[in-house]
Amino acid sequence: MSATIIDGKAIAQSLRGKIAAATADLKTRHGLVPGLAVVLAGNDPASEVYVRSKSKAVVEAGMQSFDHKLPRDVTQAELMALVARLNADKNVHGILVQLPLPKQIDSTAVLNAIDPAKDVDGFHPVNVGRLATGLPALAPCTPLGSVRLAKSVHSSLSGMDAVVIGRSNIVGKPLVQLLLAENATVTIAHSKTKNLADVCRRADLLFAAVGRPEMVRGNWIKPGATVIDVGINRVPGDAGKTKLVGDVAFTEAKDVAGAITPVPGGVGPMTIACVILNTLRAACAGAGVPEPDV
Ligand code: NAD
Repeated sequence: MSATIIDGKAIAQSLRGKIAAATADLKTRHGLVPGLAVVLAGNDPASEVYVRSKSKAVVEAGMQSFDHKLPRDVTQAELMALVARLNADKNVHGILVQLPLPKQIDSTAVLNAIDPAKDVDGFHPVNVGRLATGLPALAPCTPLGSVRLAKSVHSSLSGMDAVVIGRSNIVGKPLVQLLLAENATVTIAHSKTKNLADVCRRADLLFAAVGRPEMVRGNWIKPGATVIDVGINRVPGDAGKTKLVGDVAFTEAKDVAGAITPVPGGVGPMTIACVILNTLRAACAGAGVPEPDV
């Protein structure tokens, strides 16, 4: 049996279309144009590519994009002053500070200075706490996108056995919270987990967010399970080139799983779509306008 390939690119495109329609409606009915400010310090090539795709997605959705590119030797005081200005700017509904920041910067202090109502990355402790206690929150984009992909296969995740490999603050932990909110039975595995393969074999839903190329083998997967591969790893490819692979050995896994996301073209495009979704949500909440159902 070969798994259904979950087309993250198409699902993200459809979500972006719905967000664009909701944004147009917001403008017509309330004169509100959501705005996202993206702060990039330094010239890390991967960050530059990522920031460009976010800005493009924002503009395509009919929103305003405010890009702030700072030199690598930016000071803590300059960065904090910019965040304070963006917090106060009425046209900015979402603020995204691209990580990693240069080494002289205290990243935690910068992220914690963002107004939680504009924290579209969902990293601020206020949003982390709200998510964990079931209050309305801006949740991190990669976990949001990952759950949406699982729900593209199963309309309800209630009662399903979900295993999340990885316990980072950015992916693993918020993913667990979102899955609990969907009433899944959740196990979180990490680098100290014993018998990881056995733990994975229990999963109806398996999420891999580790950062180790093709670590999850085909025989770790329960037949028919849904596999969401969050990992993005650059490895040597053909003819001296490099290629991207996930944390799951895709070729083996697709013969066992019921449904699986590819890398690239799975979770990655959903992360970008959820950045603009969070910007739309932040704009609606800020203006006291009901959030559109997208
Ligand atoms: P991280 O390094 O912060 O966390 C990795 C987690 O994996 C840790 O909790 C660790 O305990 C666990 N781990 C490490 N080795 C393990 C092992 N041998 N067995 C079990 N668990 C192990 O990474 P992160 O930021 O959470 O990212 C994880 C992966 O997801 C990376 O490949 C990253 O590039 C990718 N990622 C993708 C997107 C996207 O948009 N698709 C976004 C963010 C991260």
